[in-house]
Amino acid sequence: MKTQHSIIVCGGGLAGMAAALGLKKAGFEVEILAPAYKAMDLAAQQYHPRVYALSISSQQFLERLGVWALMRPERITPVTGMELYGDGDGFVQLDAWQNAQSTLTWIVESGEMERALYQALQVFSVPWQQDLFADLTATGVKTQSGQELTADLVVGADGARSLVRTKAHITHHQKAYHHDGVVAHLNAELPHQNMAYQWFTGDSVLALLPLPDTDQGPQVSMVWSVQEQQARAFMAMEAAAQQQHLQQLLGALTQKRLGQLQLRSQAFAFPLTLERSEMIAPRVALVGDAAHRVHPLAGQGLNLGLGDIEELIRVLQDKPSYQSVGELRVLERYRRARLEPVLAMRLVTDSLHQLFTTHAAPIALARNLGMKLVDKLPFVKRQLINGAAGKIGF
Ligand SMILES: Cc1cc2nc3c(=O)[nH]c(=O)nc-3n(C[C@H](O)[C@H](O)[C@H](O)COP(=O)(O)OP(=O)(O)OC[C@H]3O[C@@H](n4cnc5c(N)ncnc54)[C@H](O)[C@@H]3O)c2cc1C
Repeated sequence: MKTQHSIIVCGGGLAGMAAALGLKKAGFEVEILAPAYKAMDLAAQQYHPRVYALSISSQQFLERLGVWALMRPERITPVTGMELYGDGDGFVQLDAWQNAQSTLTWIVESGEMERALYQALQVFSVPWQQDLFADLTATGVKTQSGQELTADLVVGADGARSLVRTKAHITHHQKAYHHDGVVAHLNAELPHQNMAYQWFTGDSVLALLPLPDTDQGPQVSMVWSVQEQQARAFMAMEAAAQQQHLQQLLGALTQKRLGQLQLRSQAFAFPLTLERSEMIAPRVALVGDAAHRVHPLAGQGLNLGLGDIEELIRVLQDKPSYQSVGELRVLERYRRARLEPVLAMRLVTDSLHQLFTTHAAPIALARNLGMKLVDKLPFVKRQLINGAAGKIGF
């Protein structure tokens, strides 16, 4: 039996769960179609390998969803400032107080956010079909096991390799950076002081994000964007060799800003791409990585995905009652509203990547001079802080 305004969210990652919860709370009939949720069993001193820098906008959205309060505060790290280093003597320091804020971003584990979202979905009795999206039909979707589910709107939250996007024939463009993002957690010798650190080296970008202290002392999460051959060579090493390699490399790169750094977790590598899509088709809307992907150097991919979800909910809530949630002219409002923020984030992350991965001497000089100049301009700094907070298109 078909329900009015029924929505199927394909994908049970952070974007899928947040979309389903937000739509349910906004009064829509919604269900998730995705493989079963599996919680990672982490000991007290163990942290999920993926962590995110959540912007103030994302934090406020999660608060409105009731998810922020479900996350354990001792596993969330507020970031009060950032230090950005160029490959020359370029340097920019951003502090939250420079824009009258107490926090720039929050570092949150993927697993903790997933756990909280899943708990909230259960409280709101959102049904979860443990199956995979296989195809679109005239009335909804067909699953991999052959079930036919009816829906007025299919939300594709099935990640970067989205099958929903392919089946809906939504135009999609991809550029490979030929860089991988290598992530791991490290023990630091010196306190991180709730600061995030980033080094632009000319052929790689290294970010160290603050995490809660452990019995072994201060801890940071590393996101090292590096050429794929280098990443592959590193990933092929034994743990002891990785330890030695990182210690030498990070010691030289960071000038021991946080003292000795030691691997405290397994390392994982993710290929980095720049992707965009048209985001909609009749009865289909894409959110999260299914819709776009950006370089992680600004830590904004998930923030962009949560922005999609907020906008989609707003458009569906504001539509006239005679229009259906799957109508193209309704979805077109969603697509248009997301054009500018997604484009702005693509331009910023892609330009920064280009700027900081070229060896041409005049550009290298200019980027380091530029950083020193930015460090002396309070107005520009406030714009950068607002960008990190997700308050402007950036
Ligand atoms: C190294 C690195 C660091 C990053 N750091 C940050 C950061 O600091 N801050 C930030 O905001 N972002 C960051 N990002 C980006 C962020 O990781 C992604 O934007 C985010 O995880 C995307 O979530 P998603 O739910 O859209 O996709 P995914 O996490 O890929 O989830 C997709 C889900 O869909 C399911 N699925 C797949 N196929 C089907 C199907 N056929 N049917 C049903 N379900 C299906 C999968 O099982 C999965 O659960 C980073 C990315 C990288 C690579």
